[in-house]
Amino acid sequence: MSADSNAEPTSEPPASGQTPLIEIDNVEFGYTATPVVRDISLRIDAGEYVAVVGPNGSGKSTLMKLMLGLLEPDQGTAQLFGEPAHKFDDGSRIGYVAQHASSSKEMPITVREVVKMGRFPHVGFGRLSESDWAIVDRALDTVGMSAFADRRVTQLSGGQRQRAFIARALAGEADLLVLDEPTVGVDAESVEAFYKLLESLNDEGITILLIEHDLAAVTDHADRVVCLNGEVYFDGPTDEFVDSDALARTFGAVTTNPGDAT
Ligand code: ADP
Repeated sequence: MSADSNAEPTSEPPASGQTPLIEIDNVEFGYTATPVVRDISLRIDAGEYVAVVGPNGSGKSTLMKLMLGLLEPDQGTAQLFGEPAHKFDDGSRIGYVAQHASSSKEMPITVREVVKMGRFPHVGFGRLSESDWAIVDRALDTVGMSAFADRRVTQLSGGQRQRAFIARALAGEADLLVLDEPTVGVDAESVEAFYKLLESLNDEGITILLIEHDLAAVTDHADRVVCLNGEVYFDGPTDEFVDSDALARTFGAVTTNPGDAT
């Protein structure tokens, strides 16, 4: 099955002439001779809230790594903030929130210490100034974690932990927040609050790229959906996605359980 015409080419420059945060043009990549993703062209502009969905093994994480320059395309180009993605080195512009909020490998440091790390790219090995600490405190406040600032991250719930990592990205003044299935292991009640937080950050201008298995979260919150299964099956506004047969086509294209959108 081939990608549908719903997957509109997005490589034309926007009318405003602004540089896209991410621009992927005709990208193909494989870990072996067989491509895992192919014919991928998409652009993400400042202020967007984009969710990437697709079955297990459909190439979501691979695409994210290509976007962030952690992998280099075999064919095509990947640009990040207008530079070849693999050469981009201003990590402070990107906040990354990984899957598995409940990793036990983390150091027993406090929430404030985690958030403080967001300032490191700005202060080098120097001490944080008063204004740096004010930024840290504001980030804690934004994610509703001020009351937990002195608690060790190992003593937090999954949802609180993910908030702490978002606060670290905010303290770093990231323009782009990339989240890879951020609510895996987070209790249902906190999930809704978590997505509300993402929405309010997006309202304030932060661009959000979400890789998500929870389709309800995607359709409730993201503005744009990219449906991936090796290639892009749909790329467009969320309401068009909901009304389309994109999900059936995307998930029908593999032999994995169609209900499993991870
Ligand atoms: P998703 O995130 O949608 O589950 P991935 O991008 O992780 O998909 O994987 C896409 C395909 O690439 C899968 O078949 C997976 O087995 C393969 N793959 C992922 N990472 C590697 C790797 N480091 N080496 C070899 N194959 C890989």
